[in-house]
Amino acid sequence: MAEQKGPSLKEQLWDPVAGFGVTFRTMFRKVVTEQYPKEKLPTAPRFHGRHQLNRWPDGLEKCIGCELCAWACPADAIYVEGAENSKDPDGSGRFSPGERYGRVYQINYLRCILCGLCIEACPTRALTMTNEYELADDSRSSLIYEKSDLLAPLLPGMEQPPHPMLLGDDDQDYYRGDFKPTDPAAPAGPTAPPTAQGKETLA
Ligand code: SF4
Ligand code: SF4
Repeated sequence: MAEQKGPSLKEQLWDPVAGFGVTFRTMFRKVVTEQYPKEKLPTAPRFHGRHQLNRWPDGLEKCIGCELCAWACPADAIYVEGAENSKDPDGSGRFSPGERYGRVYQINYLRCILCGLCIEACPTRALTMTNEYELADDSRSSLIYEKSDLLAPLLPGMEQPPHPMLLGDDDQDYYRGDFKPTDPAAPAGPTAPPTAQGKETLA
């Protein structure tokens, strides 16, 4: 029977030292750990975070309640109920410039995978995604965001709907951008800058 050899001198002396060498080398390297949540680093500009329902520069909602976003969602995370805008002759009962608006709008963040397919499907750019990523909660119900949670804030120059269309005579003017911007420095029409829509990422 062959005699079994013990560890060589190199294995006994050098290998443990070499192992500590990795430790010592790493100790003097720049730390890459992010100190979240004490320090919050900005995301990439096109990061897909919480959704936002945008407004026209007069405050009317861009959402027309068409439900295309809900049909496009692979996780069945969006629920929309559209309704007719009021047919008051003076247009004072409007929420959007179209025939309809999104009366109920919910996104279930327990299901949402932040893929962005819904914002691609939206025909009016009503739905976009912000860079906000803090969506954790300890309550299931609070992770179902309602329309009031998702609507962009009213900025200076905007009025809380319902109200008549203030930028053009009809919905065609809105969609073609055939109106004057409320802020003269801003370009007219649907390409109005994010300042008119709140923080958003047009992914
Ligand atoms: S980001 Fe994706 S999963 Fe989330 S609501 Fe939109 S389509 Fe659905
Ligand atoms: S967000 Fe866009 S796609 Fe979804 S219902 Fe509103 S207009 Fe339609």
